[in-house]
Amino acid sequence: MATEPSPTTSAPSPPFDSTELAEIESEAASRIDAAADIEALEEAERLAVGKRSRFALLYQQLRSFDPAVRKGGGQQLQELRRRLDEALERRRAALSAEERASRLLEDRLDLTEVMSSPLQGHLHVVTQVREELEDVFVGMGYEVAEGPEIESDWYNFEALNIPPDHPARSSVDTFFVDSGQAETLLLRTHTSPVQIHLLERGRLPIYAVVPGRVYRRDTPDATHLPVFHQLEGLVVDRGVSFGDLAGTIETFVPAIFGASVRSRLRPGYFPFTEPSAEFEISCAICDGSGCRTCSGTGWIELGGCGMVHPAVFEQTGVDPEEWSGFAFGFGIDRLAIMRHGIADLRLLVENDVRFLEQF
Ligand SMILES: [Zn+2]
Repeated sequence: MATEPSPTTSAPSPPFDSTELAEIESEAASRIDAAADIEALEEAERLAVGKRSRFALLYQQLRSFDPAVRKGGGQQLQELRRRLDEALERRRAALSAEERASRLLEDRLDLTEVMSSPLQGHLHVVTQVREELEDVFVGMGYEVAEGPEIESDWYNFEALNIPPDHPARSSVDTFFVDSGQAETLLLRTHTSPVQIHLLERGRLPIYAVVPGRVYRRDTPDATHLPVFHQLEGLVVDRGVSFGDLAGTIETFVPAIFGASVRSRLRPGYFPFTEPSAEFEISCAICDGSGCRTCSGTGWIELGGCGMVHPAVFEQTGVDPEEWSGFAFGFGIDRLAIMRHGIADLRLLVENDVRFLEQF
């Protein structure tokens, strides 16, 4: 026989209206979720479960209920409270994570540095002038030759017609290298020993320029350096005359200094050329009228030159009856300061970037 459950044995129905409870919950939940910071969340919590909240009011009502239904009501409210606490805890965790993230963002050190592009160097002014000179001579059909900076006494002096007792040696008394060998070695005092190397090579004719570093026992001052650069020229061919030498100088001077600069030769002396000459260019600063730079003469000495001495040919096995030639040489550093109006040679080797970057 089927029996209906007796109303007295079933649990009393919960005293609170579930619609009202759902309304309280959803109202609180939307406030909690909308809380933008911890302060707003505390306010939402106060409104949801604080002393004056609707939730607190229900709790007060609970006391007035019959004990039989009070238990069910208590469970309803505890269940609601548990869900509200969960919502509050979720929101609190989310807000503190947000806050931590934004504090990290604020505290982050910006370690990037705005950099200009790296400084780009360029060739030293002496190197620039040397390369320009090489270009001019290569354009005239010359080869560019090189030779060692440590030379024997024979190449630096004797083969160039400067025997041990020759007075020309004293002016270039130089740096000797202790080689531990019988042969005297020294830092070359000029690029002229390369003339000997070129002649010894035995390939004639020769049209060559020799740029390079040379060493002299000079105290540095405005017009002297113990280490400087020369450019040597050597031409050996059949029937070469002094007129060819003069013509060569007249060709390269305007190519380097400009068309308005003139050149001239005046008698000079070098042991390894005969006849010898000093060559001068008209002063570019006063255009030849005379100034402090040219000591009022209108001319500036650039270098030395002359016809190759027969003794030099004989030293290297070249027949001076068949071949003739000329040689010239000048300081590249001095030419560079003349061209750029630099007052002091020492500026070239002081490594002051403010100076060097101007050229
Ligand atoms: Zn002048």
